[in-house]
Amino acid sequence: MHKKFPLQLTRTSLTILALLWFAIPALSAEGNQPPARKYSNIERLALPRLKAVQEDVLKLRSQRTKIAPMPGLNDYRCILHAHAEDSTHTGGTLPEMLADAKKAGINAILLTDHFRPPRDFIDGRWRGNKEGVLFVPGSEIRGCLLYPEASVLGKMEAPFPELLKAVTAGDGMIFLSHVEERTDHPMDGLTGLEIYNRHWDAKKDMPSLIAVAMKLTDPKQLAELEEAVKLYPDELLAFQCDYPQVYVDKWDDGTKKFRLTGIAANDCHHNQVFIVKMVDEETVLLGTIVDKDDGLRKITAALRPGIKEMTKGHKPGDILAKVDMDPYQRSFWNTSTHVLAPKLDEPTIRTALKAGHAYVAFDWMCEATGFRYEATGTDGKSVGIMGDELKYVDGLKLSAQFPIACQTRLLRNGVQVAETSGKDRVEFPVKEPGVYRLEAWLTVDGEPRPWIFANPIYVR
Ligand SMILES: [Zn+2]
Ligand SMILES: [Zn+2]
Repeated sequence: MHKKFPLQLTRTSLTILALLWFAIPALSAEGNQPPARKYSNIERLALPRLKAVQEDVLKLRSQRTKIAPMPGLNDYRCILHAHAEDSTHTGGTLPEMLADAKKAGINAILLTDHFRPPRDFIDGRWRGNKEGVLFVPGSEIRGCLLYPEASVLGKMEAPFPELLKAVTAGDGMIFLSHVEERTDHPMDGLTGLEIYNRHWDAKKDMPSLIAVAMKLTDPKQLAELEEAVKLYPDELLAFQCDYPQVYVDKWDDGTKKFRLTGIAANDCHHNQVFIVKMVDEETVLLGTIVDKDDGLRKITAALRPGIKEMTKGHKPGDILAKVDMDPYQRSFWNTSTHVLAPKLDEPTIRTALKAGHAYVAFDWMCEATGFRYEATGTDGKSVGIMGDELKYVDGLKLSAQFPIACQTRLLRNGVQVAETSGKDRVEFPVKEPGVYRLEAWLTVDGEPRPWIFANPIYVR
């Protein structure tokens, strides 16, 4: 999808939107609730909250231990759903992406170009190892992320089953994307789905967009926003992160019938670079670097009196403020899909993703690398890892190990069946078949935040 902050929507009355927002009910089914939030997004945006979050994050990172990798498997941090040089609303480039991937410790980027016919999204795109980072071409179209092995150009507009067949030929993969827009999409034949999308957090949070717009048009509040970006960049990017209920509901429903790999969607474009441009002493234009002038929003001093102070000493056309919210490095560090694979090349990563040997982590709080989730038999030996399908036997156990003590939830067929807290190793006996997935949570600033979503172990 496109912009994390859909500015065009702000043309509607601010007050009505804010009121509407507070009228939206909670989504979770009763009795199966994830840990409750303590603060609203607006509260999380405040400097003292961001500071408190960072203090806890630094503590967590200092307590982190290194876990030995599972025999023959490495933990590769991969980015799926990423855009560069693929549309007029994309701000970032491929060389920028590569440089930022190296800074954020990313091993692979699976691109998702917006389809620009007649251009093929595979031809001429980066593919293979670039300075240690693996690139895999792909496309976002028809509500899915497509990663075919070879061109499917002739099938892009074919009936969906035909496209699906072409994409998944050989080791091709297809993931359902922006799940909130297509909760009834059939899952038959899909490799998996996004279980988190950064864009959804932003899209459903109009009050924060309005708050950011207000900050950008007042000198004192702008200085605070600039301070937040400078001092607490990762905490700021994560302030909207919510439990992705609508995504995991679709996942839990789908895995009752199919094996579906859950992945994280960064949906990064590096386009959330806000600018304030002077029109005259009492008027500015507000938008992002990818907006044309006629797409920017005009704001006057009648609404935001601070504008007069901002324009002082400037001339029409001057950029009065520029705030970069989403460089790739920050987005990559925020969340990634960890893929457990013997080596870093395209066929091996495809095999691991298709097998569900992967988990989603919000590494900005504490890097999850090394996390293990596996099944053990009566002799204590591992009989399978996340993504695997096993036969139910007496004495089967599920065990997990984390680089830091955390809170966990074990879900069977989407229903919480066990929880733990304050432990870095957990073990659960398996009493009946089912689809068992594990979530881990960390507490920062007194508030539990989702940290790890492991792919399920399917006990049949
Ligand atoms: Zn996208
Ligand atoms: Zn886009």
